[in-house]
Amino acid sequence: MAKRDYYEVLGIDKNATASEIKKSYRKLAMKYHPDKNQDNKAAEEKFKEASEAYEVLSDNDKKQRYDQYGHAGMEGAFGGGGFSWDNFSHAGDFSDIFGNSGFGSIFESLFGGGFGGGRRGGRQRNRGEDLQIQLSLTLEDISKGIDKKIKINVKNACETCHGTGSTDGNVQTCSQCHGAGQVMQTTRSLFGHMQTAVTCPSCHGEGKIIKNRCPKCKGEGRTNVAKTIKVHIPAGVSEGQYIRLRGQGNIGKRGGEKGDILVLIHEKEHNIFERQDANLICQFPVSFSQVALGTEIMVPTLSGKIKMKIPAGTQSGKVFRLRSQGLPNVNSAYKGDLYVKVLVITPTKIKSAEKSLFKKLAEFDEEKKLQPNKDFLRKLKKIFG
Ligand SMILES: [Zn+2]
Ligand SMILES: [Zn+2]
Repeated sequence: MAKRDYYEVLGIDKNATASEIKKSYRKLAMKYHPDKNQDNKAAEEKFKEASEAYEVLSDNDKKQRYDQYGHAGMEGAFGGGGFSWDNFSHAGDFSDIFGNSGFGSIFESLFGGGFGGGRRGGRQRNRGEDLQIQLSLTLEDISKGIDKKIKINVKNACETCHGTGSTDGNVQTCSQCHGAGQVMQTTRSLFGHMQTAVTCPSCHGEGKIIKNRCPKCKGEGRTNVAKTIKVHIPAGVSEGQYIRLRGQGNIGKRGGEKGDILVLIHEKEHNIFERQDANLICQFPVSFSQVALGTEIMVPTLSGKIKMKIPAGTQSGKVFRLRSQGLPNVNSAYKGDLYVKVLVITPTKIKSAEKSLFKKLAEFDEEKKLQPNKDFLRKLKKIFG
C-alpha cells in the first residue's frame, strides 16, 4: 500500500500553521484513542499514522525535508524499520496536547518502559537526588561513539558514621509520628473538619530521631566527594538525549537509595556540516568552468575526504546524495546520507586575461538565446509577490 501524504493524513493543507497542525493531530488522536477503540487494529494503525505525520510536520527540519523530497526524504529518518513509537518525541507534550483527558497515562502504557530509559516504580523514601551533567560532543565524536571520563561531585555515604548520621548508633523512632514520617492535621473549612497528612515537624518526614548527630556530615549520613565517572556514548546520539547511569547519583540520606546521573548530550556546532537527524548537509562552492566541463571534487566527510563526480552541465544548487556518509542511527544499523549542495560561485575579481576569455565566451551567448521559462517566472512571482 502506498504511503499516504502526511498532510492528507492530518487533513490539512501545505500552508497549515503549527497550531493548525497540532489541532488537527489532537482531533485525530482523540478519535483513534486506544481507550475508545479497544482491540481495534485499524484505529491503532490510524493513530500511529497520524502520530508519525505529526512527528514530521511538527518538526521544522523534518517538515522542510519532507516538503522538499516527500517520503523519499524521510527514508531512514526513523531507523531502518520506519516509524515506531520510540521515534515519537512528543511524550512530554501529552498533557499539553490532550489536556486533562487522562490521555497521558494511555501513552505511558502504550509506550511501556521504552521511553526515556523507563519509569521507575514508586519513589523510595530517602532516595538520593539524580544529578545532571551536560556533555558537549562534536559530530566526529557522535559519528563514532566515544568513551568519556567526567568529573562530578557526588554525595557518598559518610565514612565517619558509615552513612547512619549518628555517632553512636542511637537512633530512635520519632515519637510524634511513630516512624510514619507524616502526621494528620485537622483543619476547619467550609465543608467542616478536614484531615490532611502533613510531613512530621519533629523528624521532618524521616520517622527517626538521631540522638547524637555525626559532626562530619551533620547527621545527613552523606558527604560530598569528587568522582570520575566513565560513560560510553553510543554512535548517533543527538542533542537533548540523555544517558542514565543508574545508581551513580547522590546517595540518599542515612542509607537511602542512590539516585542516578543523567548525562545530557549537547551537540557542538560543526563548521562544515549541518545535521538533520542522521543525514548531513553541506554546501560546496565550485567554479563556472568546473560545472560547465564536469569535474571531480574532494568532498569532506566526518571520516576524511571522498571523491565526488560533478557531471558537465550541473546547475548551481543541485544536491548530490552520498549514501551512508552521514551519521549512524543510535537504534539501528542504518546510516544516514551526506547531501552535498553544489553552489556555482560567480567570480567577483577577474584578471584581464580571464576577462578576455569571458568576453570570448560571451560571443556564444547570442547563439544560446536564453529565454525566461515558466519555472523561472514562477520564481520571479515568488520574489515580487
Ligand atoms: Zn557522618
Ligand atoms: Zn516524626
